[in-house]
Amino acid sequence: MIRAARLGIMGGTFDPIHFGHLVAAEEALVQFNLDRVIFMPTGMPAAKAHAAVTSAEHRYLMTVIATAANPDFDVSRMEVDRPGVTYTVDTLEALRDAHGPAAELFFITGTDAVWEIVSWKDADKVADLATFIAATRPGYDLDAARAANESATTRFAIEFIEVPALAISSTDLRARVAERRPIRYLTPEPVVSYIEKHRLYRESI
Ligand code: ATP
Ligand code: MG
Repeated sequence: MIRAARLGIMGGTFDPIHFGHLVAAEEALVQFNLDRVIFMPTGMPAAKAHAAVTSAEHRYLMTVIATAANPDFDVSRMEVDRPGVTYTVDTLEALRDAHGPAAELFFITGTDAVWEIVSWKDADKVADLATFIAATRPGYDLDAARAANESATTRFAIEFIEVPALAISSTDLRARVAERRPIRYLTPEPVVSYIEKHRLYRESI
């Protein structure tokens, strides 16, 4: 019997992608028996509309080279190619249309992102479309994230998972490059080379 697809979606700005993202996606894949994880770099992220974000093409390509060796990881251009501000509800609806009603969608985030999710556009629709997998992230309190969901107007199906703790953030990587400090071993080697080649993040942020 053919089992309905279980698709993980790892959304993020990925400016740049790092091992924290990859570990969270891999753990979600295995713990939830997902068929694959689709990395979904945002176009113009709603939550970061005021911040200077690196071009979508660079972020997309870094995500591709970071995930290329993993047969269970894919990268989608869906949000990068969609004009205007990115809303996750549009992405989930498009994936639902593409994969059919039987497919199960799992949206993977870090615990810090739970605060944002509960305030997302069309929260009710989003909650209907996907189950959320929130990965532990150093510096962010799991119980506080749980409480945020409990007290939100729209209650989301959120599964909290423990992942090996990596206190890595894209913000820190950008600051490191700007200050000429190393980023090796914080993100895959090809991403380090890509950042050097294109001289990304060299201006202070
Ligand atoms: P920035 O510092 O620019 O916000 P970031 O490191 O938080 O970057 P994002 O692209 O904002 O990266 O994150 C995408 C998703 O990955 C979010 O759901 C975030 O919570 C999660 N995430 C990021 N870093 C980690 C980490 N070290 N451990 C677990 N989850 C993480
Ligand atoms: Mg972030």
